[in-house]
Amino acid sequence: MRQVLLVRYGEVFLKGANRPHFLKVLTDNIKRAVKPLNGHVWLSDSRVYVSDFTDLQACIDRVSKVFGVYSVSPAVEMEKDLDVIGEACVQMMAPLSGTFKVLGKRSDKKFPMNSMELAAEIGHRVLEANPNLRVDVHTPEHRLTVEIRDNAYICVREILAVGGMPTGTGGKAALLLSGGIDSPVAGYQLMKRGVRLCAIHFQSPPYTGELARDKVLQLAKKLAWYSGGMRVYLVPFTRCQLEIHEKCPEELGTLITRRFMMRIAERIAKQFGALALITGESLGQVASQTMEALCCTDAVVTMPVFRPLIGLDKTEIMAVAEKIDTYETSILPYEDCCTVFTPRHPVTKPKLETMPKVEAKLDVEALVSEAVEGTEMVIVE
Ligand code: ATP
Ligand code: MG
Repeated sequence: MRQVLLVRYGEVFLKGANRPHFLKVLTDNIKRAVKPLNGHVWLSDSRVYVSDFTDLQACIDRVSKVFGVYSVSPAVEMEKDLDVIGEACVQMMAPLSGTFKVLGKRSDKKFPMNSMELAAEIGHRVLEANPNLRVDVHTPEHRLTVEIRDNAYICVREILAVGGMPTGTGGKAALLLSGGIDSPVAGYQLMKRGVRLCAIHFQSPPYTGELARDKVLQLAKKLAWYSGGMRVYLVPFTRCQLEIHEKCPEELGTLITRRFMMRIAERIAKQFGALALITGESLGQVASQTMEALCCTDAVVTMPVFRPLIGLDKTEIMAVAEKIDTYETSILPYEDCCTVFTPRHPVTKPKLETMPKVEAKLDVEALVSEAVEGTEMVIVE
């Protein structure tokens, strides 16, 4: 008899002919997550199990944060002997009170009882041993599952996990990661759908300092937990910002800055093999995030730009930031390059046609190439 963790997956189940591939990736990701606990992970009968871990709670915490996992249950594995199973069920239910139901699942048809008979027999033994329990087959407080597969498995607790798709099954994208609250959340949303990310951060020394850079690396590290590492590209952006500040109308400064960010990000994204850009923009949050402004920023790139927070309010974004534990880091008060030359009255309804005229005063190609060439790459684990 031994303790195992039973892992259920959600949408991966729907993937038809691709299911073996998705399952392989999912299993590998779970292996990576439980490595520090020595956990042994295996796939059997379309179900993932973890055994031989050093700490059950830590194993639950780690596996329930692996994208693609729908829920986990601490379970006991044993031989397919009715008395052994019955005794283990009695023990598992001993601390509980209230109503319960037994769900029998027999996939090994050689086992002498069918699912219904098994459930009835186990229910009877549990009731006899525990006077604090009553049977309720419609809305039970506890569901005791007894499965007869290559071995017998019993479990009563089910802990919901993050869901989503296994990291590595959704392609690659580049996240524009500022030090703010929004962009780490935007990255998380896409990672949850199986996307592998790199992060791109624009820094403007000496206006932005070491602390701002450390903060961004810390945020990247929190996201990297889910994928087991992440590349962070640190782009020197001072030159672009100074040129824009000097040569462009003040009220268009932020918008032109954002157009440069997108151009530079697209080039770096291609080096990484990414097919899309991700930003933390939310419609109407600031002047550069009106519909007109977003059209002006999108116009300089050909890659799709994903903005998973576009329809969310700040409070909703903050709730996710709290959940994924990036909020506390995001609110550390260090300068971001966007706050360096903030216009007093930014335009909220910019016209796309005026952009080329304004940018004609700049050597766009030279500025973009210089920034890309000066970019430093750091790998966070
Ligand atoms: P955040 O909370 O993520 O900083 P924000 O609400 O402050 O976002 P902006 O500063 O206008 O909004 O930035 C919008 C988006 O542009 C960010 O979500 C991020 O994707 C990107 N961005 C802004 N500044 C930077 C930067 N210094 N480096 C990389 N990306 C940035
Ligand atoms: Mg910001």
